[in-house]
Amino acid sequence: MEEWQYQMQNHVDNLEKLKEFINITPEEKEAIETLHTRWGTTPYFASLMDRDDPACPIRKQVIPSLKEKENRYGIENYLVYKENRSNEEKRPDTIARQYYDRIAFTVMNTCANYCRHCFRKELVVDKSLQLHFDIDQGLEWIREHSEIRDVLVTGGDPLLLSDEKIEYIVRKLREIPHIQMIRFGSRLPVVLPQRITAKLQKVLGGFHKVPIWLNTQCNHAKEITEQTARAVYDLLSCGVNVGNQAVLLKGINDDLKSFKDLHQKLLTIRIRPYYVFYNEPAPGIDHFRTPIEKGAELIRDSLRGHTTGLAQPMYVVATNIGKIPLMPDYYIINRGEKEYTLKNYKGQLTTLPNIPE
Ligand code: SF4
Repeated sequence: MEEWQYQMQNHVDNLEKLKEFINITPEEKEAIETLHTRWGTTPYFASLMDRDDPACPIRKQVIPSLKEKENRYGIENYLVYKENRSNEEKRPDTIARQYYDRIAFTVMNTCANYCRHCFRKELVVDKSLQLHFDIDQGLEWIREHSEIRDVLVTGGDPLLLSDEKIEYIVRKLREIPHIQMIRFGSRLPVVLPQRITAKLQKVLGGFHKVPIWLNTQCNHAKEITEQTARAVYDLLSCGVNVGNQAVLLKGINDDLKSFKDLHQKLLTIRIRPYYVFYNEPAPGIDHFRTPIEKGAELIRDSLRGHTTGLAQPMYVVATNIGKIPLMPDYYIINRGEKEYTLKNYKGQLTTLPNIPE
C-alpha cells in the first residue's frame, strides 16, 4: 500500500483518533456528537493542528462547529442553483455549466479533508445531493459539444481516484479534438501531498499539446510544509502548472498579516496565487463569511504595492452566472477631461493624460 492510501485508510474521523492530535474542547465534542455531519481529515493534515488552540486555522477547517446549525444567509439546494442544474439544457450529472466554452466535470464526491467551509457541502459532506458519476457519459457529452475547449475535472477531490482512472480521464479528454486544456481542482497537494507519487507524475506528466493545470486550495500559511513544497515541485517538474484558489474565511485569513503571509509563502513553494473566493452563500457556513468588501480591502492594504506582483490573486465571487471580480478600485480618484488622477498604495497621487479614442 502506498503512503497516501494508508493516510486515507487511517482517516481521522472519530473522537478517539482525534484525541491523538488535539485536546478536544467540550464544544468541539458536542458538535461532533450532535451534528452527525460527515467530517474527517488525513493523519498528515491533523498533525498540523495546534494541540491546545481551538482557534488554530487548520483546526477550524477540520472540526465541525455548532455554528453550522445556524443558517441566516445560506441558500438551500445551493449547488443546484449555483451550477444551473435545473435549467433547460439537458446534461449528465457530471457536467456543470456556467460558460459557453468550458465546463466543470464532477467525477466523484469523496475528499481527503471535509472542509467545514465547503460550498459543495450538499454533495460531499451532507450527501443530500446525489449525483450519478458516470464518467463515460460525461466524456460523451463533452465529445458531442465542440464548443467546449477547457475542462475542469473536479469533485470531491478527483486526485483520490486511482492512477488508472485518472489516466483514463486524461487520455480520453486528450483524444477529443476540441479540448485545448485540462484543469484539475484538488486540495491534495495541501492535505495529502503524499498523493503526488512517481506513478501519478507519470500519468499527468510529459509534454503534450493539451496541458494540465492544477489549482489547489490553501487558506493559511500554516498549511504549507516541506511535503507540500516537494509535491508542488514534483508536479511542476513533470509539466503540471500549479495555482492556488483560497477561500476568504472569517477568523482564518481575513486579517492583514495572515492574508499577506499566505500569499507570500505560496510563492516560496512555487504556487502562483490565482483566486481568492468570497465564501459563497451555501447553507451552514455563515460563521466563515465576511462582508463582501473584505477581500478587496485585504488586497488593497496587504498585497497591492506591499509585496511582489506575482503574489496578487484575483478576488472574485463565484455565482450562478459565473465569476464576478470584486477587486479594489481606489486607484482612479478623478477622471478629468485632460488627465486622470491616480493614487498608489501609499496614498501618493500622480497623473496620466486622458487619451481620446
Ligand atoms: S476538498 Fe474541496 S470539495 Fe472537498 S470538502 Fe474541501 S472544499 Fe469541499
